[in-house]
Amino acid sequence: MMTDSKTTLEPPAPARVRCSDWLCPVKNTNIVSFSGGQTSGFMLRRLLDKVGAENLTVIFCNTGKEYDETLDFVNDVQTRWNVPVTWLEYCRVNDEHSWRVVSYETAARRMDARTPFDEMLEWGSTLPNVRGRGCSGQLKVRTMKRYLLAQGLETWDSYIGIRADESHRTLEILAQCPKYITPHFPLNDAGVTKKDVDGFWDAQPFKLNIPNHKGNCDLCFLKAKWKRLSIMREEPAAAAWWIGWERKMKARMEAAGKPTGGAMWVDGVSYEGLLAESQHPEFDFNEHDVPCSCAVGGYRDADDEGHNK
Ligand code: SF4
Repeated sequence: MMTDSKTTLEPPAPARVRCSDWLCPVKNTNIVSFSGGQTSGFMLRRLLDKVGAENLTVIFCNTGKEYDETLDFVNDVQTRWNVPVTWLEYCRVNDEHSWRVVSYETAARRMDARTPFDEMLEWGSTLPNVRGRGCSGQLKVRTMKRYLLAQGLETWDSYIGIRADESHRTLEILAQCPKYITPHFPLNDAGVTKKDVDGFWDAQPFKLNIPNHKGNCDLCFLKAKWKRLSIMREEPAAAAWWIGWERKMKARMEAAGKPTGGAMWVDGVSYEGLLAESQHPEFDFNEHDVPCSCAVGGYRDADDEGHNK
C-alpha cells in the first residue's frame, strides 16, 4: 500500500505570500507543476485529497507543441475536479522574456502558425538539444518563475510528478534547483510507480487520450528515435515544424558566419532524414528515451537571471 510518509505538504503559510488576495490568483506557495501528463495528474489528485484545492496553486505551461489531447486532459482535470489551473505561455514583450496567462480556449495549438515555442526560437541563436534543453527551461520553468515573481512571491514549494521508478531524476533536480524553489516529489516519496498511476487512471471516467510516446511536445528531440519515427510515419505533417526550424536556424547561423552544428535538434541526425527514414518499413525499436518531464534540465537553467534567494 502506498503511503505519503515523506510528503511534506502542509497547509499554506500565508505570511510568505505578499500579493493581495483580491488581486492575485496565487494565494499560497504550494505550486503544483502540472505537465498535462497522467503522472502529474495523479500527483495533483493526491494533493487535492490531502489539502484541498484552496491550498494549492496549479500551473500548466503550454509550449504550443503538445497534442490537443494533452490540452483536453488539462481542461478535463480543471473542470471535472473543480480545481483552478493557471495556463501560462512563454512570450516576448518589449524584446524581453515574458509570460502570458491563457486558457483552454485561447492556448496555442501545435499546428498554429506561431506558437510560444516559435517565439522562443525566434529569439534564440541555436536550437535546443539533448545537451542544452533551453526549451524546457524557458517555456516551462522560467515562465512559471517569471509569473510567480510577478505575483509577489519570492520563494515557493514546487510539487513535481516524478515516480519512484524514475527516482534518479529527483537527484538531478535537487542538485540543480535554485535556492528560492524547494522541490517536493510526493509520488516518489510514497513509492508510487507507473503501474500505480496506470491503475488509477484505468479506474477514472476520463484520462489522457494519447499513448505515452505522444506526451509532451509531439516530436521532442528527447524522445527515443522509434517514437519520433512512429509519430512521423503516422503523421508526416508533424515533422514540418521541426524540419522548418532546422532550416531556419541553419540559414541564420550561416548568415552570421557561425558553425551550423547548433542548427540540429539531435547531433548528426536531421529531422528531414528522420522523416525519410520513417517511411521505411523497419524501425529501430532498441533506442530508449532521454528522461524528460521538462523538469530535469529546466531547473538547471532556472537560476541565471539574478533571482537566487
Ligand atoms: S518536451 Fe522536449 S521539446 Fe518540448 S519543451 Fe520539453 S524538452 Fe523541449
